[in-house]
Amino acid sequence: MRYSTHDGPGIRTTVFFKGCPLACWWCHNPESQSFQPEVLYFAERCRHCGDCLAACPENAIEHADGAVRTTAACRRCGHCAEVCLAEARRMAGRRVTVAGLLAEIEKDVVFFDDSGGGVTLSGGEPLAQPEFAAALLAACRERRIHTVIETCGFVPLGTLLEAALAADAVLFDLKLVDAAKHRLHTGAPNAAILRNLAELAARHPAVSVRIPVVPGINDSEADVHQFAQYLAGIQTPVELLPYHHTGAAKYARLGRTYRLDATRQPAAADLARFADALARAGLTVTIGDAQ
Ligand code: SF4
Ligand code: SF4
Repeated sequence: MRYSTHDGPGIRTTVFFKGCPLACWWCHNPESQSFQPEVLYFAERCRHCGDCLAACPENAIEHADGAVRTTAACRRCGHCAEVCLAEARRMAGRRVTVAGLLAEIEKDVVFFDDSGGGVTLSGGEPLAQPEFAAALLAACRERRIHTVIETCGFVPLGTLLEAALAADAVLFDLKLVDAAKHRLHTGAPNAAILRNLAELAARHPAVSVRIPVVPGINDSEADVHQFAQYLAGIQTPVELLPYHHTGAAKYARLGRTYRLDATRQPAAADLARFADALARAGLTVTIGDAQ
C-alpha cells in the first residue's frame, strides 16, 4: 500500500505479509490471516456470466440462488480471477521476491525523502516469515530507507529481537493483558507476547505500543487497569486505535462470518478515560485514527 500515513513517520509504503498466528475478532485485514493466497468475491460486481465456473480446473465454484460460491475444493490457482472481466473475483496474496518488492518500493523513495517516511512491514504478521523480513530489512538499510515493523509479538523472542534490531522502529500491537480474554478473542495465549514486549522495550530505543480499543472486548475498567499496570513497567509511548468496522465487508468477500456486527466505534469520552488511566501510569498516550 502506497502513501500510508498511519504506519510510522512520514509517507510510507506498507508491505502486508500474508499469514498471522492470531485471529483477532476485530481484524480489519482478514485476508491477511491465512498464509495462502485466497479468492475474494465481490458480489456487487458479479454479472453472473459463468466464466469463472468454466475456467476453474477443480470445479470449485458453485452458481446457485443468485450467488457464486467458492467451495473447499479450491486450490487457489487464481484462474477464475484471471478470466473475470468484471473483477468480481480477485486474489488476495501473491508470491514475491525481495528484488521484485524492492523494485516497487524504490519508486516511492522520493516521497520517503520529502516526508521522512519509509517502509513498514505489516500483515498479517511479518515476523511469521522471518527470513523474508530479514532480507527486506537488510536491503532497505543498504539503501538508507527507514523501516518500521508492525508486529503482534507472538513470535519467538530471538526472531523478534533480531528483526527489531535490523529495523528503525517497532509498532507492537497489544490486544489484551487478561490471559483468558486474549485467548478467546485472538485464538492464542498472551504470556509470550507480554514477555516479548518487555524484553524488546528494554533493548530497542524506538518501540511504540498500539492498542486497538474494541468496545465490550478490551475497554472495561478491569482491562484498562490491567493495561496501565502492565505498561507502567514498560514505559513505551502508547497509541490507542479506536475500533471501526471498516473491514466487515471483507469477511463476506472471503465467505466468512464477521463476529462484531453489533459493535460500534468507541465514544470519545471512553477513549479519553482510557488514555487518562494510562497517562496516570506515567505513559505518553495518543489517540489515533479509527481502525
Ligand atoms: S466470471 Fe466474474 S462476473 Fe462472471 S460469474 Fe464469475 S465472478 Fe461473476
Ligand atoms: S482459485 Fe482456482 S481452484 Fe479456486 S475457485 Fe478459482 S479457479 Fe477454482
